[in-house]
Amino acid sequence: MRYAGPIERLIQALSMLPGVGEKTASRLALYVLNSDDDAYVDELCACLRDVKDNVRLCSICMTFSEVDPCAICSSSERDLSKVCVVGDYKDMVAIESSNALSSAELGYKGTYHILHGLLAPLKGVGPEDIRVGELTRRVAGGKVEEVIIATGFDSEGEATAAFVADILRPYEIKLTRIATGVPSGGSIEYMDAKTIARALVGRFGL
Ligand SMILES: [Zn+2]
Repeated sequence: MRYAGPIERLIQALSMLPGVGEKTASRLALYVLNSDDDAYVDELCACLRDVKDNVRLCSICMTFSEVDPCAICSSSERDLSKVCVVGDYKDMVAIESSNALSSAELGYKGTYHILHGLLAPLKGVGPEDIRVGELTRRVAGGKVEEVIIATGFDSEGEATAAFVADILRPYEIKLTRIATGVPSGGSIEYMDAKTIARALVGRFGL
């Protein structure tokens, strides 16, 4: 069945969001429709407009920010010579959460570069679709000493890591990849062979 015009329009708009199918979109639309809370609906509209109007990309690291350069790139507490390359903004937020850990030496205090995508030839995502040119220009600027590639270890993350490493190899910088291995709280006996092998390669001194 089809809903009436404006409701159908809202359902179509909501179902454009990733992970939201038509069923979920219908449920969300009816929730908004049934809500007596006008302030909530106004706030939702205002937030959507606000992120589009006021959030831009930091011209240095390409993260989303209301100011340019972003708070991390302009912070005197961060090590500007280190750049951690991630696929998207969510990954950066996840790595930033390491700063909340109680032991100071575990937090990451460098800066970032957000690629806004990972290479995925099967989905038609090639080098021109990710923000790698901005990273190369930044490294060519000469102030970067280490680039840490922190994409995942699935095929897209690995392909992107190899690609970024190749592009940056001509520059005199330290190129590193985040370690992979046994997760915190994980037990060895349930790990797959590749994870165990990598954990041994990436072992560190105590
Ligand atoms: Zn920035």
